[in-house]
Amino acid sequence: MADDYPFLAADGPLATQIPGFAPRQAQLTMACAVDVAIANQRTLVVEAGTGTGKTFAYLAPLLVRGVRALVSTGTKALQEQLFHRDLPRIVKASGKPVKIALLKGRANYLCHYRLQIALDGTIRLDRQLLDQLTRIQQWLPRTDSGDLAELTALAEDSAVLPLVTSTVDNCLGRDCPFIGDCFVAKARAKARDAELVVVNHHLFLADLTLKDTGFGELIPQCDALVFDEAHQLPEIAANWFGETLSSRQLQELAEEVRQLVRTELKEQRQLALVAEALEQRLRDWRLAFAMDPTRGNWRQASQQPQIAAATALVAEAVTLFDNLIRAQIGHHKLLDQLAMRSVAHRELWQRLQQTSALGVSLWFETSRRHVMLHLTPLDVAERFGRHVSERAASWIFTSATLQVDGRFDHFSQQLGLGEPTTLALESPFDYPNQALLYVPRYLPEPGPQFRAHHLIDAALPLIEAAGGRSLLLFTSYRMMHEAAQLLLERCELPLLVQGEAPKRQLLSEFVATPGAVLLATASFWEGVDIPGDDLCCVVIDKLPFAAPDEPLIQARIEDCRRRGLDPFAAIQLPAAVLTLKQGAGRLIRDVSDRGVLMVCDNRLVNRPYGRIFMHSLPPMRRSREQAEAVALLQQIPRAVSLPNPEPVPDERTL
Ligand code: SF4
Repeated sequence: MADDYPFLAADGPLATQIPGFAPRQAQLTMACAVDVAIANQRTLVVEAGTGTGKTFAYLAPLLVRGVRALVSTGTKALQEQLFHRDLPRIVKASGKPVKIALLKGRANYLCHYRLQIALDGTIRLDRQLLDQLTRIQQWLPRTDSGDLAELTALAEDSAVLPLVTSTVDNCLGRDCPFIGDCFVAKARAKARDAELVVVNHHLFLADLTLKDTGFGELIPQCDALVFDEAHQLPEIAANWFGETLSSRQLQELAEEVRQLVRTELKEQRQLALVAEALEQRLRDWRLAFAMDPTRGNWRQASQQPQIAAATALVAEAVTLFDNLIRAQIGHHKLLDQLAMRSVAHRELWQRLQQTSALGVSLWFETSRRHVMLHLTPLDVAERFGRHVSERAASWIFTSATLQVDGRFDHFSQQLGLGEPTTLALESPFDYPNQALLYVPRYLPEPGPQFRAHHLIDAALPLIEAAGGRSLLLFTSYRMMHEAAQLLLERCELPLLVQGEAPKRQLLSEFVATPGAVLLATASFWEGVDIPGDDLCCVVIDKLPFAAPDEPLIQARIEDCRRRGLDPFAAIQLPAAVLTLKQGAGRLIRDVSDRGVLMVCDNRLVNRPYGRIFMHSLPPMRRSREQAEAVALLQQIPRAVSLPNPEPVPDERTL
């Protein structure tokens, strides 16, 4: 394969668009491989280390060949960056009038119908929600897309969002009085018309599994499908290939029925009473579970007498409600729609009660007010692989973390990709000189004897040597909070702790606060991109093996044993290796970055499987000497001097 791709060359079209653009060999190699895969409708899996410039490496061949393409990202953040920053530049460089579209899930778009219901006064709202509704109402005439991300003043988890967005359940579709103005419908129409559509994995899988109606025709139209952050696909696919029903869905249905009776079908009082009884039984059902939000194995939980009794009462109420609402079909259009939802919920409820089903994990989780039941397939390979092999298109999967121990088997097998073409591209970073992997000596092995003070004793000298600028990644909330408390007592650097603010805000504060230390868990192990000297120390509390009591993991382990495989080698180890690679990848984000990755887990060097972790990490220099790590961190210049070291009272201590 010629590793030359003129579009991305030093004198190529992209270089004229982007000041300072320099060709990178790995990027050229990847572009050539993607080009060949498109030409031959092949499946290609590419691990491209951080800094290879993989985005342009897959976008360029798509545009140069002029194929209809779908690009799917793991996160909305990357989706936005791709659409608003990278795509416009490369499309301009291509000189072609390419139609592009950004398509998100319906929960991102304002729904005119739901907004009207929220404003008509039938739902009781507090002052804060009313303020937010007013803001949305004022923004409505100014937006073309209806994408609520434009309203930056609105928090990502604002309680107003479910009130003003639609779900598959409550969307009226063609019967909606606002269908002509509907933002969801417009975004989908634009996507159907586009030559290159940017979606995210959740939306792609919703489409693939036909769980959201109205645009299932997107995928068959594509000549090429590219998945960035593809390492997330197997987990997301398992969720979408599975089924979920929450007490909230049933409650919302019952509420809508009562509202309809109140406003239009006043003679249907019996239906309203049955709906009310269903709501009450759903509330009682939640009370049968532990007070604190939790998750667990539904097969086991459903045997507990208190839960079994409450579940039986809900089952009875679901059946009665469904029988009654179905008896009214044909009297009112909206009631007909609600009846269809009721039928679907009842059928799903019954599937979720079949606890002897094979090949799936049945699990539950509770929030403060609701219970969710999940049915997740243990293996998505057969189903996902079928979609790949049935479509005459090129499928391209890329990420910085796909290989385990230098092999792609784990990823390819999870998605049933058969024997794809694979390509591993090393990062252009000079890891031996830019980074040090430090595994401290004398720490207890992870387990009950390993406490937060062990971790902080070992990490504090590095954090202080770095002058803050540290990211501490934890595998549990408990350890994170204990470590935060100790740091609060023992160091004067500004602390940021996950949960105090949304992720995006915490990351902005981290960069804006000289000498900050950020403590976080799962969602920060990836998607954190802080190039430069603002971050030079990443501390990982232990090897990120998934908790074996997680119901889904438990079920996969059992399934693996039944098939005669070793669950540790087949499931737990590869998953932990990929997670560690993600966490480690937060440290070096640019050619001039330097820093220390500290992994507080002796198993990395003491256990035979430690070799697999080591072999999968970037080739950083290694050390067990604290002095070496401290010396390196002290050398990394600080862009801004630290704030006054006088102790500042922190409100969390008051
Ligand atoms: S069609 Fe559905 S999403 Fe669109 S405005 Fe109506 S209810 Fe909302």
